[in-house]
Amino acid sequence: MGVFDYHDRGISGIRLPHPRQVRQAHRDDPLAAAMQHKTFKYRLYPTAAQEKLLAQVLSVCRHWYNMCLEERKLVWELEHRFVSKAEQEKTGICYRKTFPKAKAVFSQTMQMVCDDIDKAFKAFFRRVQAGAKPGYPRFKGYHHFDSFGFKQYGAGIKVDGRRLKVFGIGRVRVRWHRPTEGTIKTARICRTAGQWFVCFNCELPDPTPLPTTGQQVGVDLNVENLLTDSTNRRVESPKHYGKAQGKLRLAQRSLRRKKQGSKNRRKALRRVQRLHERIKNQRHDLLNKEVHHYITGYDLIAMEGLQIANMVRNHHLSKSILDQGWGYFRERLTAKAANAGRQFVLVNPAYTSQTCSRCGNLFQDVTLSVRWVTCGCGLSLARDHNAALNILYRATGQDVSVNANVGACDHALFRSPRL
Ligand SMILES: [Zn+2]
Repeated sequence: MGVFDYHDRGISGIRLPHPRQVRQAHRDDPLAAAMQHKTFKYRLYPTAAQEKLLAQVLSVCRHWYNMCLEERKLVWELEHRFVSKAEQEKTGICYRKTFPKAKAVFSQTMQMVCDDIDKAFKAFFRRVQAGAKPGYPRFKGYHHFDSFGFKQYGAGIKVDGRRLKVFGIGRVRVRWHRPTEGTIKTARICRTAGQWFVCFNCELPDPTPLPTTGQQVGVDLNVENLLTDSTNRRVESPKHYGKAQGKLRLAQRSLRRKKQGSKNRRKALRRVQRLHERIKNQRHDLLNKEVHHYITGYDLIAMEGLQIANMVRNHHLSKSILDQGWGYFRERLTAKAANAGRQFVLVNPAYTSQTCSRCGNLFQDVTLSVRWVTCGCGLSLARDHNAALNILYRATGQDVSVNANVGACDHALFRSPRL
């Protein structure tokens, strides 16, 4: 089987540049900071034998992760001392020498595990310092450890013709559905719902901004349809989750009836995981298309700076909000706007739907059930369209409610649309 031969490069164990040298190199390279990173994900099609090996690497990494965690925990309890990443990397070398199974795992992959645990602890302490109540890093069970990494592309992982050559695994079949861009820096192999993927982290030169369009837009996210913008373009909620829920319920019921630890249970579990995965993919596909629409068509995109985490805690709204992936939408818009040289503005969400977008009058008791607003100044709009206009005006500083124009419109009427 095609396994990497490292001896021709004079590397038999680990010989990395000293961290100080790496940091120095970064400081010397002025481009290093300006570079942007992008991840490219491809589906892998390992053979049955390769899949077994991949699962084995994952299991070694998982055990190693749990051991590192245990060490940190014990050393703190017994000696009140922190164990550094470097110390654990050294232990990792001994571990690889001692256990034959660990020899099939690339040395830098073991280091990446130490890296991951270090990150977990850093995040934990950062949150403690910030006054939050974070959970202590956890031991990982079989279902909670699903990836391993390579910190240098070319060492342990490499594209070889149409295939991907992985240390200890061999040449794995890949579906190259699109070309990578820039230079590949690091790679990670992950397992999702029984399928294998490789993620390449690529370094790209600074993007060229898109040509300006002279258009501006405000986007209002709704609960009952996905979004409405200030041009009154509406996107209906796909309700993938709702549609697939019947299927999911059946699959979950069948899973519940299977005997613990049986092969049939594993199959049923896989089915449930695949359904969840499919729903997620459909949702992301739709949201990415919306992001593309706004990024290509508008110079300025405004949205409400909603506290999504707080809203999800509201059980009446939570399911539809999670279903529609508001957080994902905002995250993608932010990233894409930065790349395309677009302005992305988050405005104060207070009273966007209760204010008249023409005269700035504040409506009384607009609840979620009110779908249509009319105002004494002659405004008669769908509630969401009105809110989207307010969002846009707030972002561009044309908010009429601030301009003390309230007296112009004495009272406001509103009604639900008659159906
Ligand atoms: Zn008005």
